[in-house]
Amino acid sequence: MRLVRHPLEHTAPGTHRELVSLHYGPTGGAKALIQAGLHADEVPALLVAHHLRGRLEALEAEGRLRGEIVLLPYANPIGLDQRLLHHPIGRFDLASGENFNRHYADLVPRVAARVAEALSGDAVADVAAVRAALHDACAELPADDELQTLRRKLLGLAIDADVVLDLHSDNEAVLHLYTATPLWPEVESLASLLGVELSLVATTSGDEPFDEACSTVWPRLATEVSRRLGREVRLPGACIAATIELRGETDVDHALAARDAEAILAWLVVRGLVDGPAPSLPPVGPPPWPLTGCMPVIAPSAGIVAWRRPVGVIVAAGEPLADLVDPSTGETRVLTSPTDGLFFARELRRYATAGAKLAKVAGRAERRTGKLLSA
Ligand SMILES: [Zn+2]
Repeated sequence: MRLVRHPLEHTAPGTHRELVSLHYGPTGGAKALIQAGLHADEVPALLVAHHLRGRLEALEAEGRLRGEIVLLPYANPIGLDQRLLHHPIGRFDLASGENFNRHYADLVPRVAARVAEALSGDAVADVAAVRAALHDACAELPADDELQTLRRKLLGLAIDADVVLDLHSDNEAVLHLYTATPLWPEVESLASLLGVELSLVATTSGDEPFDEACSTVWPRLATEVSRRLGREVRLPGACIAATIELRGETDVDHALAARDAEAILAWLVVRGLVDGPAPSLPPVGPPPWPLTGCMPVIAPSAGIVAWRRPVGVIVAAGEPLADLVDPSTGETRVLTSPTDGLFFARELRRYATAGAKLAKVAGRAERRTGKLLSA
């Protein structure tokens, strides 16, 4: 294992933060990047990374790694250090208010300008040329503050990977994942091995989350190069990326984390990065549902939230999910499901302000457009 320290620049005098990447296995071939805690307060991801760390050390010692596996055991040292009134703040950068998992750079324009004329139609050579250009483009991204520096380093570590897994968790939720729609045939085996209860897919989620910045750059680049050259240019989809939501934020448990780590490693066997007998794939789980069908449950007024249903149940549109009790009047409003589907995530806090998003129900019907992810 090779440990690399990446100092974050532009901190205040007398302070120092760094990102750490752990590199296992041989370089120069296939590469996977797994990062935990980009939303720094999503602790289940950190524990899964801890288990992966031990297992990867053992697999490397056994000579079973066939490619490079890069593990970021904590992807967000800025967020890990944020507190406000005794509460950890790991989702948003306190200085800018920006979500740590949004606004990754669109590298397509500058990479297209560099590689358009050089692409030969040879898939292996073209992927190598594009990856080199992506690396150069990453290195040129602005780094005027600590957050920009972090985003540039994370993207630079992942942009040439064949596989990118971004480990997160929700508030209270079932195990689920997000990926880009065209990647589903490749991600289905991951969903199966993990035993996810829900996979959500979208062509574009909006606001450039990390996984899409790594994976959708390939089809977007092909489109842009084709436009520039006035003819169709094909590029392989050279990066498979997914965001895995490791249940709810209190699901921090060694047995669960060890199980999830083994499922991820089994998938890396499928992808050829780890040597071993092909894992038997559990029966195919539910088909992916469109992210456009994921509907929020919104509090119409402030109140005490008393849930009626647990996460993980199939519900019908109009079915009661929670009571919202106004402590000033004693009135109770019943919050109902906005769609037929799977009630898969809900807020951990039990008091809502007016307009708060309290839960999510995934449905098959495509009902939303625009930016599809939570704030
Ligand atoms: Zn997250």
